[in-house]
Amino acid sequence: MKLSVIGCGYLGAVHAAAMASIGHDVVGVDVDPAKIAALSAGTPPFHEPGLPELLEQAIASGRLRFTTDISEVHDAAVHFIGVGTPQRKDGGGADLTYVDGAIDALLPHLAPGSLVAGKSTVPVGTAARLATAVHAAGARLAWNPEFLREGFAVKDTLEPDRLVYGVASDDDAADDVAVLDAVYAQTLETGTPRLVTDYATAELVKVAANAFLATKISFINAMAEIAEVTGADVTTLADAIGHDARIGRRFLNAGVGFGGGCLPKDIRAFTARAEELGRGESVAFLKNVDEINLRRRQRVVDLVVDSFEGQVHGKRVAVLGLAFKPDSDDTRDSPALDVAVRLHGLGADVVCTDPQAIDNARRQHPQLEYAATTSEALNDAEAVVLVTEWREYRDLDPAAVADLVARKVVIDGRNCLDSDAWRARGWQFHGLGRP
Ligand code: NAD
Repeated sequence: MKLSVIGCGYLGAVHAAAMASIGHDVVGVDVDPAKIAALSAGTPPFHEPGLPELLEQAIASGRLRFTTDISEVHDAAVHFIGVGTPQRKDGGGADLTYVDGAIDALLPHLAPGSLVAGKSTVPVGTAARLATAVHAAGARLAWNPEFLREGFAVKDTLEPDRLVYGVASDDDAADDVAVLDAVYAQTLETGTPRLVTDYATAELVKVAANAFLATKISFINAMAEIAEVTGADVTTLADAIGHDARIGRRFLNAGVGFGGGCLPKDIRAFTARAEELGRGESVAFLKNVDEINLRRRQRVVDLVVDSFEGQVHGKRVAVLGLAFKPDSDDTRDSPALDVAVRLHGLGADVVCTDPQAIDNARRQHPQLEYAATTSEALNDAEAVVLVTEWREYRDLDPAAVADLVARKVVIDGRNCLDSDAWRARGWQFHGLGRP
């Protein structure tokens, strides 16, 4: 099938390459010429494992190309919308400028009977609003939310754990479902669950899923706060409650909290939308979820400051990690970067490093000092703060690291190090919610 993908960031670029890899003829469109040039050359403008290979193969097959010219989508049967929906500058709600802009740009090029399939995460009610213009142009609109995880985006796109189609409540909706089924035929053949819903349910599925995940993380971080004043160990607590199949162990890792381009802005946008709908109280707990999450960043900073008995000014602190999660270079709302900035603000001599995210971090915070390698960052450090759990940091050898630093103090902001092993090597070790 001929497909277009409008917006070629973390979601769109992977979606475009994945759709081409399963045999579709895909054109990816973005307004950012640098991004389009990089993608056309087969070089992803961001770090995502497996994407360079997928992109290269798809381009070589002749089934994938990228352009900044939206008119090139005119013969596509399905147009996926993957533009950003960031937090508004003036509040917690979602900024729909890019979604509206993409639809406006697309309308003149829609072939009659073609389908626009929104993948961006939008506030409930958006699809119904956009459907009027799309249907008036002789095309159709569906909302097909995306659940990929950065770091696993290729696999999640090719083998999603479910497909959700939000379709119009009219007689033509069955045709829209058939078109999406044709796009995803290979995935459906493997038995992937497919749920067909109305627009509102599909939009809510996505934000509800992210609200649940954020709540689960903040729940265990709240337990960490209690553990810290009682001497309990939150990691053992998580293991113990996680054995209950109704609870489950995944997403129960206490630490510096969640970040990135989705969870924080999605729970804030959900709160703002619920308030608009007169149901603010239904999701009022999400404000607590957000607050608990942000408190954990300060907790890491406090542990560093306490390790210097309050005198962090001028102290050399190595910050390991800048991306919001490992295997990504995404620093949007990254707890790791926030911790580095807060310590720098207190006058610490902060040296940050990350295997992939230094360029993005530097663009946001040029005032910080960046080291290209872990050993460079650790050199003469008086405290080591691990804030993104890259394998390289999880595997650090406490004996080898001890030879580099000036003072053996480590703050494990992700509870991913073996505290016994580090203490045995003479380190002063601090975890979150652990004695
Ligand atoms: P992103 O910022 O990486 O990419 C968005 C892209 O859209 C940018 O490259 C931008 O230049 C482009 N764009 C903006 N306006 C455009 C227009 N009018 N025409 C063409 N391109 C345009 O964002 P992202 O992380 O890919 O997220 C996109 C959407 O997907 C968001 O709604 C997000 O919440 C959702 N989402 C993201 C993920 C994820 O892990 N990143 C997962 C699921 C859902």
